[in-house]
Amino acid sequence: MLKKTNPWLREANLIGGSWVAADDGAVIEVFNPATGEMIGTIPAVGRAEVKRAIDAANAAFPAWAAKTAAERAAILLKLAGLIRANLDALAELLTLEQGKPLAEARGEVGGSANYVQWFAEEARRVYGDTIPSPWADRRLMVTREPVGVVAAITPWNFPSSMISRKVAAALAAGCTVVVKPAELTPFSGLAWGVLAEEAGIPAGVVNIVTGHAPPIGDEFLENPLVRKITFTGSTAVGKMLAGRASAAMKRVSMELGGNAPFIVFDDADLDRAVTAAVQSKYRNSGQTCVCTNRFYVQAGVYDAFAEKFAAAVRDLKVGSGFEAGVVQGPLIDDRAVKKVESHVTDAVAKGATILTGGKRHALGHGFFEPTVLRDATPDMKISTDEVFGPVAPLFRFETEDEAVRLANATEYGLAGYFFTRDLSRAFRVGEKLKYGQIGINEGVITTEVAPFGGVKDSGVGREGSKYGLEDYLDIKYWCIGL
Ligand code: ADP
Repeated sequence: MLKKTNPWLREANLIGGSWVAADDGAVIEVFNPATGEMIGTIPAVGRAEVKRAIDAANAAFPAWAAKTAAERAAILLKLAGLIRANLDALAELLTLEQGKPLAEARGEVGGSANYVQWFAEEARRVYGDTIPSPWADRRLMVTREPVGVVAAITPWNFPSSMISRKVAAALAAGCTVVVKPAELTPFSGLAWGVLAEEAGIPAGVVNIVTGHAPPIGDEFLENPLVRKITFTGSTAVGKMLAGRASAAMKRVSMELGGNAPFIVFDDADLDRAVTAAVQSKYRNSGQTCVCTNRFYVQAGVYDAFAEKFAAAVRDLKVGSGFEAGVVQGPLIDDRAVKKVESHVTDAVAKGATILTGGKRHALGHGFFEPTVLRDATPDMKISTDEVFGPVAPLFRFETEDEAVRLANATEYGLAGYFFTRDLSRAFRVGEKLKYGQIGINEGVITTEVAPFGGVKDSGVGREGSKYGLEDYLDIKYWCIGL
């Protein structure tokens, strides 16, 4: 239905300024996760097409890098304006292929525009340094230069904003890019190509390729023209990419999995904690890497929190993202539903009690009931695996030290949240949590002006903020003899 009317649905790849099919005409079908209907097809390209895209990015690089920061900023600001002007159509496309409620899709597309605007503004602040010289007859300075051709690989949970966060930073720095959107949600990524063209970004500066991941990834990793790989996705794939990229001495930014803790201390504002818990857990039906995975609730408020939280979750309306009032869309595919099911089964077998939800939703397809489990324990799979679905396990703890120890007992380190009204505790606990991002009395903390990224197995590098631009710049030291 929407296919006929949405002008942003492109079933071709953008390579060197041309919209093209795969050389052999191969395609991949893309489905609406809420209905199972096919939305359209995308090219399934091989290494040859990806190599052409990299060549195009490399050819476009000198002229793009040579533009003044103000020139690049002007084009990026135009792009941000175009995203905002077409927000409704872009959000519909996002909901169609990804499933999230339209209001969330609008928020994501608006966020994409914010990233582009932010990096347009930051483009003009790529400063260098002068260094007091240890030699009387030499002057020392430092400049920053774009790293070169960037390959960007993005996931299906934020098919618009993950691209913006990478590509806007790369373009602001003066890099050119080849983007590979996730094959489950490629159309928001391909729409980025249409937007780039309309904004007047020169041919070859932004290239978008789709298809099965391994050949695309292999070309990105083995082509010496690619100087940086930026990836958002699973830790397993990220480790493989980072390992091979390092062997080829390419720079990397890796935004990988999370296993976010959410600690509620006895002194917390309980209503505030409940509201934040719902937002942090059930946004995008639990499919974000900063979604809470584990709730640790102190014994004194455990029962009260469990009751209020479960009541709030029972009110969440499940359905198609296009339906008014719906706040829980489908999971991305059946594999995701099976994973969530297995977590619930495992937890119940090991003693958890279901307060609400617990099974596939009557709507079928990717729908799963928003679920709250109490009496969760560390031996359950749900305490160590990333759930990536609408299931909230509640663990009980007694002391502050115990909460910190449990929260840190994971190989991940992306985001952590805790709720307290004690200022000393806020600093004590905040300093001990081994996470790249912490929310204190807040459950949703992502913004284009702040650094997004993790420690440990959650990755390396930062996106958004002034730090996000650094990831696309190389340092050049100059020694000038007088
Ligand atoms: P998820 O489990 O969330 O789908 P993945 O890490 O598998 O996470 O996918 C994130 C992105 O990485 C997607 O665009 C996917 O196609 C891509 N990807 C997966 N495997 C590879 C690979 N071998 N080379 C390059 N990209 C890959």
